[in-house]
Amino acid sequence: MQLFSTNDIARKREVSFREAVFKSMPDDNGLYMPAFFPKLPHGFFEHIEKFTFQEIAFEVAQTLIGDEIPALALRQIVEEAINFNAPIVPLDKQLHVLELFHGPTLAFKDFGARFMARVMSWFLQEDASAREIHILVATSGDTGSAVAQGFLNVPGIQVTLLYPKGKVSQLQEKQLTTVGNNVTALEIEGTFDDCQRMVKQAFLDQELNQRLNLSSANSINISRLVPQSFYYFNAYAQLKRDISFNPKRAILFSVPSGNFGNLCGGLIAKRMGLPIRQIIASTNVNDIVPSYLDTGSFEPKPSVRTLSNAMDVGNPSNFARLQAFYKSDSNSDESNLLANIQKDITGKRYTDAETREAIREVYQQHRGYVMCPHTAVGYLGLKEYLKEFHRPAYGLILATAHPAKFIDVVEEATDEKVVLPPALQALLVKKKQSVSLSNHFEELKTYLLTKA
Ligand SMILES: *Cc1c(COP(=O)(O)O)cnc(C)c1O
Repeated sequence: MQLFSTNDIARKREVSFREAVFKSMPDDNGLYMPAFFPKLPHGFFEHIEKFTFQEIAFEVAQTLIGDEIPALALRQIVEEAINFNAPIVPLDKQLHVLELFHGPTLAFKDFGARFMARVMSWFLQEDASAREIHILVATSGDTGSAVAQGFLNVPGIQVTLLYPKGKVSQLQEKQLTTVGNNVTALEIEGTFDDCQRMVKQAFLDQELNQRLNLSSANSINISRLVPQSFYYFNAYAQLKRDISFNPKRAILFSVPSGNFGNLCGGLIAKRMGLPIRQIIASTNVNDIVPSYLDTGSFEPKPSVRTLSNAMDVGNPSNFARLQAFYKSDSNSDESNLLANIQKDITGKRYTDAETREAIREVYQQHRGYVMCPHTAVGYLGLKEYLKEFHRPAYGLILATAHPAKFIDVVEEATDEKVVLPPALQALLVKKKQSVSLSNHFEELKTYLLTKA
C-alpha cells in the first residue's frame, strides 16, 4: 500500500505502509491516505457469508496492504487482533445493532488498537536496528484504554496516555490508570482538545523527536483505521447468512462519531466494493461535521461536554481524510466536493435529553435492549434517516461501547440495574496510578524527556 499526505494535493511524495504506521503523521501536518483502494473481487462478496470474521478480515487486509507484510505473518496478526466477535442483534426488520464492544475494554477501539500493536510489533521484529518506540495518545476515554490493552507488554514499546482530568467516567479512569507495566497515564488539567493539541505539538517538536522515537496510536494512524473497515464487511456477511436476506434492499450504517475514524473505516469498505448505500454521521451537540454537511463550511469549535463523551470533539481529527476520499472525484471544486460527500454521508446531531430518551425508548420497545449513550445517538440518527428514506432497508447501528461503561446514565434512563461484566468488576478494586500535569506543552515535554 502506498500513501500520500492530505496536504500534498499534487501527490508528489508517496510513502510505504510501514513509514505511515511509524510516522503516524506526515511532516506537512496532513494525514496519510491510501493512494488507491483496490476493489475486492466479485466472488468475495458473492460468497462472503461462508467465511469467518477472521478470514474476511485477512482478505480485506491483504488486498489493501499488499505484500509489505507476507501473507503468513498478516494472517497471524489478524488472528491475534480480531479474536472476539462483532455480532448483529436485530431490534426489528429495519433496525440492527452491530455490537463492536466484545473486546478487552468493551469498546470498538479494541479492534484498531490490537491490530495496530501487532502490526508495529511485526515491523519492529523485522528490523534489527529498530529503536524503542514511544506511543503517545490523547484520549477522551475509550481510546486510551484500548491502546493500553492493545499494547500491554508488547516488547520494545512504551505507552503514554493523556486524558482530561474529571472528564472521563470513573470506570474509564480506572481502565486508563490501572494497566501498569509499559503503560503510563498522564492526568491533564484541561479538555480533550488540550490533550490532542499537546500530542500534536509533541510530534512536531524537533528535540523530542531526536531524543525519543515517538509514534501515535490515535485514529489518525493508518494502522488503526484499516481494521475499522473489517467489521463493516463482516456485518454484510451476517446479513447475508439470514435466509430472508434481500440483496435489493439498501444497506445503511449509522456511525456514532467524534473524530470520524470509525466512519472513515466505512468509507474504506465502500471504496473496496461493499454495497453501502448511505452512512449516517451521528453526533452529539459537537456537530462540526453535520454542520459542514449542511452548510459546506468547516468550523472547529471548543468541545462541549456531553453524555456521549467519547464523541466530545470540537475539531475532528479525521476530517481532512474524510474529504480526501472525495477530492480526486471533485476536481478541487468545493461545492462539487460537498455534493459528492453528501451523496454518501448524511449528518445528524442530538442533545443529551434526546439521548437519554432514546436509551429509555429502546429499552422499553425492544425487549429490554440496553444501549450506551454513543450507540443511542447512532440509533436516533438511523431512525430519523429511515423516515426520510421511505424504502425498506437494512439499517445498522454501530454499537461502540458496552452500556455498563456508562452505568449512571444508563441506569437512570432505564430505571434498571446494569450488571457489570467481570472485566469491569475486577477493575473497581484496583488502585489508580497517574501523573498530574497542566495543559502546557512544555510540562509534557519535560516529562517525556525524563523518559528518554
Ligand atoms: C471513540 C468512540 C466513538 C467515536 O469514534 P470516532 O472514530 O472517533 O468517530 C464513539 N463511541 C465510543 C464509545 C468511542 O469510544
